[in-house]
Amino acid sequence: NATPRVALVTGTSSGIGEAVVKHLCQLGHQVLAVDFNPAGENVAEAAGAAFFQADLTDPEACRAAVAEANKRFGGVDILVNNAGIQHVAPIEEFPEEKWRQIIDLMLTAPFLLTQAAWPHMRENGWGRVINIASVHAQVASPGKSAYVSAKHGMIGLTKTAALEGGAQGITANTICPAYVKTPLVDNQIADQARMHGMEEQEVIENIMLKNAAVKRLIEPAEVAEMVAFLASDSAGAVTGSSWNIDLGWTAQ
Ligand code: NAD
Repeated sequence: NATPRVALVTGTSSGIGEAVVKHLCQLGHQVLAVDFNPAGENVAEAAGAAFFQADLTDPEACRAAVAEANKRFGGVDILVNNAGIQHVAPIEEFPEEKWRQIIDLMLTAPFLLTQAAWPHMRENGWGRVINIASVHAQVASPGKSAYVSAKHGMIGLTKTAALEGGAQGITANTICPAYVKTPLVDNQIADQARMHGMEEQEVIENIMLKNAAVKRLIEPAEVAEMVAFLASDSAGAVTGSSWNIDLGWTAQ
């Protein structure tokens, strides 16, 4: 079994974050689940995790989340930056406040959480930063300027953390999934179906899986398995890298 560690996971009230919390709890880790949605409390409790409510677009809330993990569990060993949102509009019409919200949540919050968690990891000589980016950290799609920019930026943050952490026992890696079956994607399927006057199944097959070699959506649990590997002692030599779980999307 894995050495028990303390994990802080963000964006845990549904989807990938929920699956990661469940999986890390099952492996025997102590987990602090962080989300702005109070529904995250029940999700965390069901998995055996603690919950801290925080809107991660607020820098003070980011620091408070790590302080909570320090107080409860003595420090964060594994940080999983997962919270994210999407907004689709052409650059010409993209609202500035949405741009800022997405960059704050998906790039600045991971930076601040890494910064706050770092001293404990350094002192311990062991740490794992696992950033949930996206296939949109490697390639772009029209209408997703803020999301694509935040996710590409996350790869840069991860590589820098890997270089700084190398001598300190801290690794940093990015996971880049294509479409995963979560509420975030369900909403996009519904929106696209309305927009194109298509059936939802047609949207999945013709739009979402257009670039996929494996023609199915990804399960949240499949991403959680990859997080668990990167969080393990076995992955100590793996750092600064991006792990695609993208159905073959970027192979072409
Ligand atoms: P989701 O909507 O199910 O979960 C996102 C979580 O983030 C929710 O629990 C939400 O409450 C939380 N959140 C949103 N704004 C927040 C805020 N301001 N403060 C704190 N928490 C906040 O989505 P998901 O699909 O599980 O996505 C999780 C991550 O995976 C995101 O970063 C997303 O970009 C990434 N991702 C998802 C897919 C996919 O296809 N679903 C693909 C690639 C990458």
